[in-house]
Amino acid sequence: MKISEIIKSKSPSLSLEVFPPKTSDTFESVIGATNKIATLKPSFMSVTYGAGGGTSKYTISIAKSIQENHGVTALAHLTCVNSTRDEVKARLRELKESGIENILALRGDITPENQNREKWDYRYANELIQEIKAEYDFCVGGACYPEGHPESEHQSDDILNLKRKVEAGCDFLTTQMFFDNNILYNFLYKIRDKGIDVPVIAGIMPVTNGRQIKRTCALCGSQLPQRFKTIVDRYADTPDAMKQAGIAYATEQIIDLFANGVNAVHVYSMNKFDVAQKIMENISEIIK
Ligand code: FAD
Repeated sequence: MKISEIIKSKSPSLSLEVFPPKTSDTFESVIGATNKIATLKPSFMSVTYGAGGGTSKYTISIAKSIQENHGVTALAHLTCVNSTRDEVKARLRELKESGIENILALRGDITPENQNREKWDYRYANELIQEIKAEYDFCVGGACYPEGHPESEHQSDDILNLKRKVEAGCDFLTTQMFFDNNILYNFLYKIRDKGIDVPVIAGIMPVTNGRQIKRTCALCGSQLPQRFKTIVDRYADTPDAMKQAGIAYATEQIIDLFANGVNAVHVYSMNKFDVAQKIMENISEIIK
């Protein structure tokens, strides 16, 4: 099923994210974890893609397994950084043949290994989206950044670039993680004002590792509000307490989003069945 259809419904949707293994050695355990998460029957599941190889070849097999073995719609991520047009076209054919209907089209991060832009056939995600839409009927999503993408000096420029993606054919957007819902509400106001009217799925990260989150936030440009920093400072050294507090904080964000009319939430569940299960239990009366 197309994600644009799933999120059109008036009832709230909750989707989950998984990531593929880095090596073939861990493929069996990762596919086991992702299939277990699929038994929770989220609205859909997204499978990330390792820009520039590595994990990328497993994305499609995991997405296919989720759909075929559990009947859960899959969203396959696809990046274009460091890729040739022929490579991207081969991936698109493979996705089509595997019965995948939904793609999250991304540029991917620029790393020290992939800085030689002369080799790239695509510079930005809007070019990938345009290419997909020209040839296929995939439902295509794009990424958006309520606190601005780290490479953008001004949020207004980032929003104009976001508009290019939507004009290239994005059917929906998924946000970068954020920890203060007011940031999302302000962002929605700004993008709607600029005529970006596709559905926005709110990305929520349940923090279970207090030590890692500060570094992750520094890299992706998300701010930790003082209220949550206090929680991290208090519980980062007691993993079980941090996990419980992180799940409670994420649950509260999700309930507030639904209560304020943001009907689609995507949880960065990162292959953690127990975290995904607990969150779904916490809102079982809200999303039934
Ligand atoms: P773009 O939309 O191309 O934007 C990148 C930067 O360029 C922005 O600063 C933007 O303002 C600017 N820009 C865009 N278009 C133009 C233009 N035409 N002219 C000038 N400037 C422009 N990474 C992975 O490797 N694998 C994944 O599976 C993955 N999944 C993700 C899922 C979500 C929901 C999010 C939010 C991010 C994900 N990422 C993933 C990370 C993502 O690849 C990085 O954030 C990357 O740096 C930007 O990707 P993008 O598609 O947003 O790029």
